[in-house]
Amino acid sequence: MGKVYLIGAGPGAPDLLTLRAARILECADIVFHDALVHADALALAARARIVAVGKRCSQISTDQRFINRNLVEAAARHDVVVRLKGGDPMIFGRAQEEIDALVAAGIEFEVVPGVTAALAASAELAASLTRRGVSRSVVFATPRIRNDQPERDDSATSGWAQAVAAADTAALYMTRAEAPALLRALLDAGLPANHPVAIVESASLPQARKLYGTLDSLPQLAAETGGGPAVVILGEVLREAVAAAQSTPAADSGTDANPIRQVL
Ligand code: SAH
Repeated sequence: MGKVYLIGAGPGAPDLLTLRAARILECADIVFHDALVHADALALAARARIVAVGKRCSQISTDQRFINRNLVEAAARHDVVVRLKGGDPMIFGRAQEEIDALVAAGIEFEVVPGVTAALAASAELAASLTRRGVSRSVVFATPRIRNDQPERDDSATSGWAQAVAAADTAALYMTRAEAPALLRALLDAGLPANHPVAIVESASLPQARKLYGTLDSLPQLAAETGGGPAVVILGEVLREAVAAAQSTPAADSGTDANPIRQVL
């Protein structure tokens, strides 16, 4: 019986992979990876069979039970099995389902953490998510419902919007195409329309983009993003950055009436 490593590949930039992850990849026999994992990270697994089990919102994704079964079967045939996930495996990574399947099958496993998207976004914004006197709590949340159980829409009852409103700083994952509903839910939960917001797209990658605004501008900001993965950061820790972005004239237009500025 082999061992399964659930490894966080970080937010995208391959040099944000941990040394431990790189060492395990180098001796991997088989790697099951997500869609957001960088090709250079996969290249470290030089002797491994590489299997894409990618998941991107609104695209056809590999069924989670199929992935679980594959991990168990691979461990019977290989010494070093890697499940490589974007960011950190334990944050919106379905890691628990895989861990449960491995435990049930009696297979040895280890979790290797990675840099989660919210922290890469914080670095990209040069804004600390906690700040003395301003923010002493951070919540990671997603409004997204489980797409494999559409009959169980728990978005209304999970309390995610209340948790976001109660936290000093929030990082929202998987919000694509849901900005108007997101805005409504957060206003209903009690956040003010002028709450500072930033969207960070493709954090840590050369094509990274940052968009600043206030909560009421979230749908417009979201519409300006491209096709990369994006997190929404909300909180007073962004107040100065939002004000600075809004007072900087847009590079391509001196007469732009839109108060939302893109800062590259
Ligand atoms: N386990 C991952 C999250 C997986 S869910 C982690 O810890 O980061 C996928 C979501 O992560 C995307 O919808 C997006 O919200 C976010 N994300 C992943 N990579 C990102 C990046 N480079 N920049 C911004 N957001 C990212």
